[in-house]
Amino acid sequence: MTAPVEAAPVDLARQHAVANALRAFLPPASVLFAPEDVKPYECDGLSAYRQLPMVVALPATEEEVQRVIRVCRDMRVPVVARGAGTGLSGGALPRGDGVLLSLAKLMRILHIDPLARTARVQPGVRNLAVTEAAAPHGLYYAPDPSSQIACTIGGNIAENSGGVHCLKYGLTVHNVLKVRMVTMSGEIMEVGSLAPDASGYDLLALVTGSEGLLGVITEITVKLLPKPQCAQVVMAAFDSVETAGAAVANVIAAGIIPAGLEMMDQAATLAVEQFVHAGYPTDVAGILLCESDGTEEEVADEVRRVRDVMEASGATLIRVSASESERLRFWAGRKAAFPAVGRVTPDYYCMDGTIPRKRLPEVLRRIAELEREYGLRCANVFHAGDGNLHPLIMYDANVANELDKAESFGGEILELCIAVGGTITGEHGVGVEKVNHMCIQFQPGELEAFHRIKHAFDDLGLLNPGKAVPTLRRCAEFGRMHVHVGQDKFPELPRF
Ligand SMILES: Cc1cc2nc3c(=O)[nH]c(=O)nc-3n(C[C@H](O)[C@H](O)[C@H](O)COP(=O)(O)OP(=O)(O)OC[C@H]3O[C@@H](n4cnc5c(N)ncnc54)[C@H](O)[C@@H]3O)c2cc1C
Repeated sequence: MTAPVEAAPVDLARQHAVANALRAFLPPASVLFAPEDVKPYECDGLSAYRQLPMVVALPATEEEVQRVIRVCRDMRVPVVARGAGTGLSGGALPRGDGVLLSLAKLMRILHIDPLARTARVQPGVRNLAVTEAAAPHGLYYAPDPSSQIACTIGGNIAENSGGVHCLKYGLTVHNVLKVRMVTMSGEIMEVGSLAPDASGYDLLALVTGSEGLLGVITEITVKLLPKPQCAQVVMAAFDSVETAGAAVANVIAAGIIPAGLEMMDQAATLAVEQFVHAGYPTDVAGILLCESDGTEEEVADEVRRVRDVMEASGATLIRVSASESERLRFWAGRKAAFPAVGRVTPDYYCMDGTIPRKRLPEVLRRIAELEREYGLRCANVFHAGDGNLHPLIMYDANVANELDKAESFGGEILELCIAVGGTITGEHGVGVEKVNHMCIQFQPGELEAFHRIKHAFDDLGLLNPGKAVPTLRRCAEFGRMHVHVGQDKFPELPRF
């Protein structure tokens, strides 16, 4: 897909009509349309794709969100919700003929209930702010995307975000109890329940990860967990990424579910060391970070077992964090991996796909081959325990065709993920980035079912149109419908 940069000129008459309708109930500073005012909203973390929104609306209450939605429905204006704009698949990419609805002003933590271990928050609350607010009660919010300092809970729900600790504690969907949202009809809908189970269809699971296509989330109740008594990280180094990949599968096969199990290859550790000095060895092919948490006895026992598995898997160096500050330093390196890679290349393209853990070694080998074929470097950073890959393809947008090359390289990685029985997203969503690859992952009947679900929530198709679920026509144009990636494309891979 070619990056859409600055589409057709704005329809000024329509822009003013929409802005005036919004200014009937929002203060002037909360309705932006001058190019210099809307410029900060032109992209999310997938900055290769840019588009100035026609109008930006910044409501401060749920009622104002409802009124914005009703104006958009009455005037048939597309709406794109936006949290912090850290998404990496273009989910919050605005439309030149639409309203960009920012939830940034809905940023209050409404209630922490230490007895029920829940937090009720507005969608614009930052992920880390929930843990900070819960800390005085000895509690925390488990899903921890590396962007947690900035990304919002609303965005996390929309993307079903993951993070280092999701291997043991689950993704966002496993840590949310209830969501309030405004549907495109302007009504409030509550999905989920404070009780352990809700009757009827599991609409909460449907809404979680729906990428802003079904409703605008205005309030969320999340689960809080007791902060573990202690935690330690085992860092193990390997002389090949394949061996490191095999060690990941061996840890899980040994019956251990670590609190986190992450992997970085040499390109990533070199970039991280130059940036944050996390204490990683840089003369090895790859490292694993494996965290154990719980009581002191549980941690001591699990760390011993993890060490044994790492040694048996061929680790050339093993270090166990000796203090809390060293543990945090190990994680600081991992969490800074994306910006660290950003310092050593003009541009990078972050892919996100998931594979069965046992296929890690061969997939990493194939990515290394693709690096050579495309002549582009690739740093691998990923939630290895979940089989969730994040290859960071390095390119220079100022060099002719390099973005196209990086996108083709990324597309091949996604096809590789499908070929080994995986999926085209792990946690970053489909957005605009991978919408074509949905045509490969899903059958026409499945895509039609997705469209029918969308229609049930948003009959006019005004919420985040064109994202996440491709039309069958688009798939036909992409030329990939009915083509299933596998043996033909990757004959060297055994069938799954
Ligand atoms: C450096 C870096 C590291 C990252 N690491 C991780 C990681 O470890 N794990 C991970 O999962 N992700 C990660 N991400 C991706 C990103 O941070 C997550 O997808 C995050 O959940 C997006 O939150 P946001 O508030 O920025 O949402 P946005 O980018 O603003 O929006 C994301 C999507 O959610 C929709 N949306 C936002 N708010 C609402 C709402 N209130 N109602 C309905 N729809 C809404 C938008 O329309 C869009 O489709 C990373 C990103 C960066 C830049």
